[in-house]
Amino acid sequence: MEKKLIHGETLGELEGAVVAMGQPKFRAKQVADWLYKKRACSWAEMTNLPVEFREKLEDEYVFCSTVPIKIHKSQDTTRKYLMQLGDGSLVETVSLWAPDVEDETGFGRVTVCLSTQVGCAYGCNFCASGLSGFKRNLEAGEIVDQLLTVATDIEKESGKTDRFPIDNIVVMGMGEPLANYQNLIQALTIINSDWGLRFGARRITVSTSGLVPEIEKLADEKIQFRLAISLHGTTNEVRNQIMPINRKYPLEKLFPAIKQYSEKRGRMITLEYILIRDLNDSLSQAQQLAKIAHYLHAHVNLIPCNKVESLSWIAPMPAVQKQFIGFLKSANVSATIRLEKGDPIAAACGQLSFKTKVG
Ligand code: SF4
Repeated sequence: MEKKLIHGETLGELEGAVVAMGQPKFRAKQVADWLYKKRACSWAEMTNLPVEFREKLEDEYVFCSTVPIKIHKSQDTTRKYLMQLGDGSLVETVSLWAPDVEDETGFGRVTVCLSTQVGCAYGCNFCASGLSGFKRNLEAGEIVDQLLTVATDIEKESGKTDRFPIDNIVVMGMGEPLANYQNLIQALTIINSDWGLRFGARRITVSTSGLVPEIEKLADEKIQFRLAISLHGTTNEVRNQIMPINRKYPLEKLFPAIKQYSEKRGRMITLEYILIRDLNDSLSQAQQLAKIAHYLHAHVNLIPCNKVESLSWIAPMPAVQKQFIGFLKSANVSATIRLEKGDPIAAACGQLSFKTKVG
């Protein structure tokens, strides 16, 4: 029997499993407490569970499915973790650490960017993750384990274990999260629930290239995540050149789904917009983007294009970037330009790639 991943199980599933092992149902809550409240690193630590029960758990479950075989550290405090999964596949998880932002630990704010697939089938033209195609979906436990592995590393570094050390989660690493919908929701449920990590949904952002049916589904989920859309073009003509998904779900289909999401949730969404020289950085595109942002009640996050090996696109000159954001602000659009962290280790948006060399 193939082992399951313990961090991919909901409390209900754990209850079913412990009863099948001949244990009372309350043992499931004890296991969940060890996994998420006490953050045990091994079965042996679960000392209030009978030894034979722990042995059964070990026979049936993998404790941790992500092994950080390499951690690239950037001078700007970004870390890129090359995670090896049980079948040898590699994904990358990134932590963005802002030590200058005060928080209650005095350690600074930490955002973790999670991957949801090995590779990606969507082939956005600015993105390294899609270059080698799609391999497989991550299981829910593999998504949760990325987070726990990074949290443990940060605790080791800071020496502080008094609270969970991660402040924000963005699901925008390798893969299209909404193409792995069920495992994504299961993982985020475990991360968010009271019996799990109790991580607030408002601090979790799910980013998508624009899968319309799944955006509609997400709007009806119980947990209220934040939503970010990779827009990158304000007309179908431009967006088609950047994101092949636009041919399937063009803007006239995408916008109503986003609008419905933000109306149902009653909160602002984010439009990600990679600025690419001579492609989407003109003043007329800025004007169009301002109209779209007002219509969708959206914040705009501008990201000067990062260099990706094998791609020729580059960021506009700083003066053009300044003019672009200046126009948005003058049109009363909530907009920021992302100060990229992680560029020196290829960990910024669109640069994650499982072609990363080990060693
Ligand atoms: S941006 Fe996202 S959806 Fe597009 S290719 Fe990269 S990982 Fe896939």
